[in-house]
Amino acid sequence: MAQDKRDYYEVLGVGKTATDDEIKHAYRKLAKKYHPDTNPGDKEAEARFKEASEAYAVLSDAEKRRQYDQFGHAAFDQGAGGPGGGFGGFEFTGDMGDIFGDIFGDFFGGGSRSRQAYNGPQKGASVRINLRMGFMDAVFGTEKNIEIGYKDECAKCHGTGAKPGTQPEKCSRCNGTGQVTYTQQSPLFGRIQQTSQCPNCGGTGTVIKDKCPDCFGKGFKKIRKPIKINIPAGVDTGVTLRMSGLGEPGIRGGQRGDLLVQVIVDSHPTFERNGNDIYTTVPLSFTDAALGGEISIETVDGPVKQTIRPGTQTGTQIRIRGKGVPSMRSRTIRGDHFATLVIKVPERLSEEQKRLLREFDDSLKGKQRADSGSKKKKGFMDKLKESFEE
Ligand SMILES: [Zn+2]
Ligand SMILES: [Zn+2]
Repeated sequence: MAQDKRDYYEVLGVGKTATDDEIKHAYRKLAKKYHPDTNPGDKEAEARFKEASEAYAVLSDAEKRRQYDQFGHAAFDQGAGGPGGGFGGFEFTGDMGDIFGDIFGDFFGGGSRSRQAYNGPQKGASVRINLRMGFMDAVFGTEKNIEIGYKDECAKCHGTGAKPGTQPEKCSRCNGTGQVTYTQQSPLFGRIQQTSQCPNCGGTGTVIKDKCPDCFGKGFKKIRKPIKINIPAGVDTGVTLRMSGLGEPGIRGGQRGDLLVQVIVDSHPTFERNGNDIYTTVPLSFTDAALGGEISIETVDGPVKQTIRPGTQTGTQIRIRGKGVPSMRSRTIRGDHFATLVIKVPERLSEEQKRLLREFDDSLKGKQRADSGSKKKKGFMDKLKESFEE
């Protein structure tokens, strides 16, 4: 019988070196396609589903996969007394509960995949907000005062939601456990049990008969709460700051959730940021480019003087170390500033300036005639450049 079986890797359509994720993904796809619930009465689909499930049960288990890689189907062939020795053969239905919990959590509509206890204290949910800030605030850090929507414990019922003098009662649907178990009859695997949150009490295990008149049974009131947020230097769009204890209230005495502040940084007219480096474009006068000299480059720390070599070309990039954005981890570690120089050709010239430039041009032409008489007429910038390259 074992020799009639298809190779498990082939069944799932994955390679021998497939990762756990690839195997899971491949199985999930096949299982959805061939699941008996979506192909009622289709024997072929049922067989394919069973085959894929079996392959998955083996290949998703590190130990079973190792055995299979070594001995093939014989590893699970009880009748033939496979070399697995004490290995008890492959029980098809044995592990399916786990596999279903994992893969079919959404399939059977059970919803809850987590296995945590529902009747113990539970941390409140996190609340997300977006916080917009200016470019320089993000570079150097700042303090922001904002208001958030905050669920404050109801003073009248102290968060129970029950009218003072009464107590929340044990939920009769789940008997106070907060979870209910559904049993589903599957044509292949028999009874499948799926546990999920009790819909009657929302997993709390209690129901409130007499609601608190102040909070209408909710146990909290929503207020506007002013808070101060410390923005560390170096934050950027996409960074999330976590402020513990400012999220939703906890359940059954659990701690409050967190406030997650998602940073959005405005752009800047001059500075462009990439990671912790800053990029700018700096205009350079034609004369400074040709003769060299000292120029001023605007950085986040203010202007920085830089010396330009004679004959500097347009597009030249100058790196100023340590004038970029501070690292979020340490203010003393900073990125760099990269300035790209762009030469500006003068647009309005006086008659005297034009005369001088023509004279200059003539002197270049004279020089060029001496070098190579047959060269084509060159652009003004080329000539200027050549005159400094000699
Ligand atoms: Zn109340
Ligand atoms: Zn319940």
